[in-house]
Amino acid sequence: MSEPTLALSARDLRRDYPMGESPVHALRGVSLNVAPGEYVAIVGPSGCGKSTLLNLLGAIDRPSTGTVSIQGMRVDQLNDRERTRFRLLHIGFVFQRFYLMPALTASENVELPLAEAGLNRAQRRARARELLSYVGLDARIGHRPSQLSGGEQQRVAIARALGNRPALLLCDEPTGELDAHTGAAMIALFERLNADGTTIVVVTHEADIAAAAWRAVHMKDGAIVSDARVR
Ligand code: ADP
Repeated sequence: MSEPTLALSARDLRRDYPMGESPVHALRGVSLNVAPGEYVAIVGPSGCGKSTLLNLLGAIDRPSTGTVSIQGMRVDQLNDRERTRFRLLHIGFVFQRFYLMPALTASENVELPLAEAGLNRAQRRARARELLSYVGLDARIGHRPSQLSGGEQQRVAIARALGNRPALLLCDEPTGELDAHTGAAMIALFERLNADGTTIVVVTHEADIAAAAWRAVHMKDGAIVSDARVR
């Protein structure tokens, strides 16, 4: 009998950053499986390797050694172009700094990756409207990022990340730049996304985000030190 395909499987990941005489060993052998529909928080002190790990899981960066599979597809061996294409179609990534295009409206920002994935204009418009409605921004479709609050910009970034129905949503410090009230709304949105079937891996140093996840993976000095179901 074949195993059900994991959303994510990482094996023995190491990532060394060359720094002259003394390279930084940012990851020292990390293995992690995530099943479809899981909601996982990766927590640990600053500098322990969380962002490095997320970048490998999201096929943004390649490991020094080790393997990463997303939905059964090995991504660590893909070249830059192939990884870009794979990310576009299979992974939603929400960065701490959002990276919205300032000259584009909320709708146009959400439409960008949909255009790259080959949807026509009418399809993009309709899908962007649906996504922005899902994250509660019906009334902000035509606004530019500078006309939106931090929390609203984050919602646009999440809507954009969900555009191509990714197998996996990866988020780096999703409430890092938000006030407590907006952060709580973001946590509620993540819970709804997960309840609707999105697999989520979120890097955070915030206890309330970690507490909202189903599973907490604790890291220290480039390694996983505990991995437990929290609720
Ligand atoms: P975290 O996300 O947990 O704060 P990071 O993954 O950003 O940790 O960093 C892990 C370690 O790798 C840190 O010691 C950091 O200084 C180092 N590091 C991260 N990125 C680079 C880089 N591009 N070049 C050199 N060292 C890096």
